[in-house]
Amino acid sequence: MKLGIEGRHALVCASSRGLGRACAESLAAEGVHLTLLARGREALEDTAAQIRRTHGVTVHAVVADITTPEGRAAALAAHPAPDILVNNAGGPKPGHFRDWDRATWIAALDANMLAPIEMIRLTLDGMAARRFGRIVNITSSAVKAPIDILGLSNGARSGLTGFVAGIARTHVAHNVTINNLLPGPFETDRLLETARQWAADNGLPEGEVLARRRAANPAGRFGRPEEFGDACAFLCSVQAGFITAQNLLLDGGSYPGTF
Ligand code: NAP
Repeated sequence: MKLGIEGRHALVCASSRGLGRACAESLAAEGVHLTLLARGREALEDTAAQIRRTHGVTVHAVVADITTPEGRAAALAAHPAPDILVNNAGGPKPGHFRDWDRATWIAALDANMLAPIEMIRLTLDGMAARRFGRIVNITSSAVKAPIDILGLSNGARSGLTGFVAGIARTHVAHNVTINNLLPGPFETDRLLETARQWAADNGLPEGEVLARRRAANPAGRFGRPEEFGDACAFLCSVQAGFITAQNLLLDGGSYPGTF
């Protein structure tokens, strides 16, 4: 199926690695030009070069922190009128709520709630005026099934989810949709680092921790980043113009509820 977005421009935040990169690759495979953004230059430029080589699309690589106003301005300076916005940033570290002070909470809110809301504020009206826009926020399965040690993520992303539920219906008549993708366990650097840390803290071999986590998922495996990227590209397609304000869980069936 062709997604009808060839020649469009996407701004994919936090995209040198992992799920952001996978979204960028799936969009590029459809002929979408890109602005990629991350803090580390080397991985970002490698990713940009590889996508240019593979897909022949234009790729702007912006070294910036999406949680800052300067970073957001730099992202839009590279291409001021994106048709597609994928909001993403690093996730907060696990921990215990008694250890989190106000500064810790503000950092989590900046990354996983306020930065995406700001990016929506900066792009939504232009998309509506041009009568095409697709916004996808990468959140987490923890929005639907909170995990106690991920309280910063549960809280910040739930705030974003509530905001999106309100705003997403206001612009769909102008062909602008806003949806959230909720990853369960996907095999990215973040997942592997978290498992390594857990193994070290509990005196277990890393391989055993990973094997147990895979076995605990109904699919018997972790998600593949390209599966996530393709789901994102579909939500950005012409065909997905009637899908808005949704929270789509990609978790191999881990969430046990009917809805
Ligand atoms: P990852 O493998 O660690 O990749 C994170 C990417 O984001 C890197 O390119 C990183 O590059 C960039 N980044 C991080 N903070 C940034 C910032 N402030 N400004 C700009 N770029 C930034 O992470 P991932 O697994 O893809 O996860 C992506 C998001 O999904 C995270 O919020 C994570 O918590 C959430 N999530 C992931 C999973 C999973 O299983 N993987 C599950 C649930 C939720 P630099 O470090 O160079 O900036």
